[in-house]
Amino acid sequence: MAGSTPAQITVGVLALQGAVREHLDVLRRLNTEARPVRTPADLATVDALVIPGGESTVIDKLSRAFGLDGPIKEAIARGLPVLGTCAGLIMLADRIQGRAPGQRTFGGLDATVRRNAFGSQGESFETEIAVPELGGPALRAVFIRAPAIEEVGQAVTVLGRLDDGKIVAVQQGRLLGIAFHPEISGEDRFHARLIALAREAAGRD
Ligand code: GLN
Repeated sequence: MAGSTPAQITVGVLALQGAVREHLDVLRRLNTEARPVRTPADLATVDALVIPGGESTVIDKLSRAFGLDGPIKEAIARGLPVLGTCAGLIMLADRIQGRAPGQRTFGGLDATVRRNAFGSQGESFETEIAVPELGGPALRAVFIRAPAIEEVGQAVTVLGRLDDGKIVAVQQGRLLGIAFHPEISGEDRFHARLIALAREAAGRD
C-alpha cells in the first residue's frame, strides 16, 4: 500500500563455504535483513536463500554433515525463493556433468549444468552480459572456474547468455541460477529480484 513501510523480508546466505560475507553485504546494501544459515533452525527463519559460489563438492558434503540437505530440498520443493551463484547454481541443478564421485545436489532446477565448463583457458574471466529481463545496462559478470548451463527444461526461462550462446543465467519459478559471481562486481539486480520473489511468496507486497 502506498506510504506503508514494506514488510521486512529476511534473506539467508548458506554459510558452509564460499563467498558468504560478500552476499550478506550486497543484501544489506539493498536494506534487507540478511543472515548466515548454518543449521536447519537458521533456515526456518528466512524468506529466501542465497547459495554462494565456492566449491560445490564441499558445500554438498558440509550440507549433509550439518543435516541441511534434506531441509533445503524440502524448502525448495515448498517454493522457497533461492538464488544460486556458480557453485550455488551447481547445487540447484537437477543434473550435473563433471560430477565428482558421490557428488549430489539439492536439485529443483530442471537443467543440466557442466562444472568447470570453461577449462583452463577460461579459469577466470570478466565480461558483459545483457539481461533484458532485469532492466538497465548490461551487467559485468565475473566467472571463476565457472559452470555453464548445457540444457534446460521447458519451465526454465533463459535470462542471459555469453556471446557464444552459452547459457549463464536462468529462472524457474522462484529459483534463480547464475554461473558467475555478481557480488564481486557489485551487481545487485539478481539479489533485488530474489527479494521481490520473497515478497511475492510471503504475500506481503
Ligand atoms: N568449480 C566450482 C565447483 O565446481 C565452482 C566455482 C565457483 O563457485 N566459483 O563447485
